[in-house]
Amino acid sequence: MTASPTVVPASPTQTSPIVHYLNGLLERFAPLEQGAVATYIPELARSDPRRFGICIATLDGAVYEVGDTHARFTIQSMSKPLTYGLALERLGREEVHRRVGVEPSGDPFNEISLNPATGTPVNPMINAGAIACAGLIAAADDDPLETLVDAYSRYAGRRLDLDEAVYRSESETGHRNRAIAHLLSSFSVLGVAADAAVDLYFHQCAVSVDCRDLALIAATLANGGVNPVSGERAVEEGVVREVLSVMTTCGMYDAAGDWLVSVGLPAKSGVSGGVFAVLPGRLGIGVYSPALDANGNSVRGIAVCRALSHDLALHLVRPGERTALPVRARHELGTLGSKRVRPAAERTALREASARAVILELQGELGFMAAEAVSRCILEASVSPELVVVDLRRVTRVDRGGADFVRAFGESLAAVGGTLVVSGAAPGLELRLPGEVMWFTDLDAALEWCEDELLRRVGHPGAPAAVPLAEHELVEGLEPDELARLQPELGTVAVGRGTLVVRTGDPADEVFLVTSGRLSVRIPGAGPEGRRLSTLSAGMTFGELAYVERGTRTADVYADTDVECRTLSYATLDRLAATDPRLYAKLLHGLARVVVVSLRRANAEVAHLTA
Ligand code: GLN
Repeated sequence: MTASPTVVPASPTQTSPIVHYLNGLLERFAPLEQGAVATYIPELARSDPRRFGICIATLDGAVYEVGDTHARFTIQSMSKPLTYGLALERLGREEVHRRVGVEPSGDPFNEISLNPATGTPVNPMINAGAIACAGLIAAADDDPLETLVDAYSRYAGRRLDLDEAVYRSESETGHRNRAIAHLLSSFSVLGVAADAAVDLYFHQCAVSVDCRDLALIAATLANGGVNPVSGERAVEEGVVREVLSVMTTCGMYDAAGDWLVSVGLPAKSGVSGGVFAVLPGRLGIGVYSPALDANGNSVRGIAVCRALSHDLALHLVRPGERTALPVRARHELGTLGSKRVRPAAERTALREASARAVILELQGELGFMAAEAVSRCILEASVSPELVVVDLRRVTRVDRGGADFVRAFGESLAAVGGTLVVSGAAPGLELRLPGEVMWFTDLDAALEWCEDELLRRVGHPGAPAAVPLAEHELVEGLEPDELARLQPELGTVAVGRGTLVVRTGDPADEVFLVTSGRLSVRIPGAGPEGRRLSTLSAGMTFGELAYVERGTRTADVYADTDVECRTLSYATLDRLAATDPRLYAKLLHGLARVVVVSLRRANAEVAHLTA
């Protein structure tokens, strides 16, 4: 999903209730002055403990920020999940798991906790595991630092750079991390020299970010790996679940269990004082305040995350939650038709066969729940439908189970002579439909195809391509002598396929009686062709609305095929009022019938839309 960004800037005039709430959190937690900035990396000791910023980014690209959201700091351990994701993406799970586990250690971040049997780090969120991941990238890439910075930048949605001073400071003093790297080397966990792995790790920790970047990194993970503001993919969707799972159990070090219970969001902290937290499918949170507790987590960062989770009910586990029903509405083809105006005989045939074609409007996520609901909807039908249209306009995502189901359903319907018709799928939905499935971008076209198919199935003779004037709907009820008097008054219009017969805004001065071919009435809108209001065929009428108001044309009418029409000018009709009142009355009655039929159709459509 690539949404246009709605950036909500921090300013005192903001009226957003969300910004108001976030400002309240700043006020509430600013007095919290416990903890101290990290000093074991000398350069970090210079950070200002009063700094405090909070930022939330939603999946449709809205960003709410308050406080010091543009103050820079180094990403530190918040880089670990990003590097882990990259390692999974590049080397595959198996290769990565051979070197790094996924078990929570419950130990401090810099603990040397290796699996006693294999010497492998227990998880990628502690330093040992993160250095091992950096080693994997260093071994697999010619320019590993550029690769990492580039990936992090895609998460943040802007080009990130390094804080060289912090890098040097850590590199000069990071004896413990060097020791860890050498220990890993002794167990042959690193694919490169210990120094290369730890140097890359120090570099990745020194990437400079701000609080807004943290919220966007979190929102990118919440969004399956795509930055919701830039629309750019930062990491494959397939590895995001594993990254978030490991963050859930290991992201907050020794505080991980308490964190899961009280906050309930996958999160990652860093000794610079940043924390980011992810609510999958919903939003990302970034908090920055440098004073740390004994576990090395930002004191205010933790307090804010706890408050947000509690106040806004953001916990991952949501007892009692029910998502919207996947089947939004079910229709039969007899009640929800295409914009093709059908002659009365076809309308009757379609109504009688109505239950043989159903339309299911789906919404939300097309996964197992939707598959179950769709299959039940069809199994419970009294007549088992042969044509099934699934309207995916409101489907936001298709997961693997959902896509498999659509394919299997298409094949099983085809095996019993039916057809699955998919319409309105957004370009990003990965459906990979089999050949048996019909596919339309727009529902109207899908419905028209179904109507034609159903009429064919019931053996209905197709509508005639031409209708003699005497059988036209407008002249129904005219005596032969009346028709004979009318005929010389009519004009003739014959045009080729693709001609614009009537243009919006042109003066209106005649009614058209279609005697052969097909035309569509369109108004400007979606797509270069505009939006179709109706399709008319031989025996039908257009241009009647303006007769009463004498205004201008309110829609375009295109010839879809070669077309022939007879035309009756408003002037002629007016004259008949005086010279041939009986004929005039019958023609007026004919126009009223035409209007009534189209009004009925419009009413049915409105009823459907407002149902
Ligand atoms: N670079 C820091 C270290 O290895 C990262 C630790 C952290 O942020 N928790 O000590």
